Amino acid sequence: MKVLLLYPEIPDTFWSFRHALPFLGRRSAYPPLGLLTVSALLPSHWNRKLVDLNVEKLRHKDLAWADVAFLSAMLVQGPSLSQLIARCREAGLRTVVGGPITSADASSYEEADHVVRGEAEGIIEEVVSDLEAGKARHRYEAAGRADMTRVPPPDLHLARLRRYSSMPLQYSRGCPFSCEFCDVIELFGRTPRAKTAEQVLREFEQLYGMGWRGSVFVVDDNFVGNKPALKVLLPRLDEWMRVHGNPFSLFTQASINLAEDDELLSLMQSARFNRVFVGIETPVKESHRAAGKLQNVKADLLESVRRIQEHGMEVMGGFILGFDQDTPEIFEKQIAFIKEAAIPVSMVGLLTALPNTRLWRRLSEEGRILRQSMGDNTAALLNFIPRMNPEVLLAGYRNVLASIYSPTEYFERAQAMLSRLGAMPKPRLVFSDYLALCRSLIRQGIFARYRVAYWRFLGKTFLRTPGHLGLAVTLAIMGHHFFTLTRRMESGFPQRDVVF
Ligand code: SF4
Repeated sequence: MKVLLLYPEIPDTFWSFRHALPFLGRRSAYPPLGLLTVSALLPSHWNRKLVDLNVEKLRHKDLAWADVAFLSAMLVQGPSLSQLIARCREAGLRTVVGGPITSADASSYEEADHVVRGEAEGIIEEVVSDLEAGKARHRYEAAGRADMTRVPPPDLHLARLRRYSSMPLQYSRGCPFSCEFCDVIELFGRTPRAKTAEQVLREFEQLYGMGWRGSVFVVDDNFVGNKPALKVLLPRLDEWMRVHGNPFSLFTQASINLAEDDELLSLMQSARFNRVFVGIETPVKESHRAAGKLQNVKADLLESVRRIQEHGMEVMGGFILGFDQDTPEIFEKQIAFIKEAAIPVSMVGLLTALPNTRLWRRLSEEGRILRQSMGDNTAALLNFIPRMNPEVLLAGYRNVLASIYSPTEYFERAQAMLSRLGAMPKPRLVFSDYLALCRSLIRQGIFARYRVAYWRFLGKTFLRTPGHLGLAVTLAIMGHHFFTLTRRMESGFPQRDVVF
């Protein structure tokens, strides 16, 4: 059997980093880990080919070559997924669709030949044997959750690694918390399941053996969901890194209670984690309480962010506007918090009711759902009726973005963050880093309208924290993405999409 693994296009959102990637000479942030893990579960006698639309075009001859296409997508990739299914149908190619998009919404993608829900590990064998026998059903549903200790390393050799800025690696699935708006716990459960230390080290070894150096994104939704297990893994990872000459810098996502644990912070710092995304959501405790985000109610958020930063990890923050408890003062509160916390990269989005979440169920009962979510909370498209006047909410959202992504404000936060940042291991520079530096100096330092703020930022970093100059250039490049996207959103904010 010849299988074409198809990954739909990711639209231009905050998370795409589309306007930063050209500085690095890369086309996309990460290869599709889920699809490459599915590939590793397929029989060894099947031929595989990956086409990731984010880095390459799908050609007619790819479609003609294959016997079946496997497609996986997140909600935000829905439009591109539909187009791909249609193209496969036109070419007479059978389609198998899965991933978070079908797991979240049972009724989606009926036009595909086969729709798979749930974690692939629990169902793929049956799908494969039915396809081989020519009797595959329309719908498959995995029973239960996957045993992570049996998940194989992804087939990364299928991806053109040099087209990506970072490599993905998964350690665990699931999160012990219970945030009302979160779909992770619905998809993966509240009991974190993890790979063994041996499995994880084997995957790092695989990346190392393939010649990858630089950034690795540990994609777990909450890396610190099971702290005792992590404290077994991290010392071994630290040792592996030292023996291999520290080839990678690591980035992950974690809940704020990471900051309560000095030992864990030190272990992560030592293992070369230098960036962590934390869902802060709002400075308003009543909103956390109502959303069931109790770990944020307990924490002193500003102090927690500072503690993580002092352990050499840049904090990227997730923020939400549109909670029922939000009043028009929320916009200034968010801006002030983001500034005081010194979080340059702040992903501020509108609250979205994702399918099959507690929030979706509550809002449905209250008759407040307007439409399915597109999975992009920066789209300025409300999918439920907020308590606040929607026009006020959207205007306030626009003001928050305009304020935090004005180049001067952004560079000031970046400067403040660099001055608090604890010791970071010296980054291992690769050729593309030098290229990125040259491109940044030319595009941002000469041609950008914000070049004065850019040079002031680099100059101050050179004088005050020269050890962080490389990171300062990275932050400036990321800033370019946010400045560009924010300007575009400001000019094209679709008021017509506000439905009352
Ligand atoms: S901490 Fe994060 S991953 Fe866990 S339930 Fe809350 S939003 Fe979801």
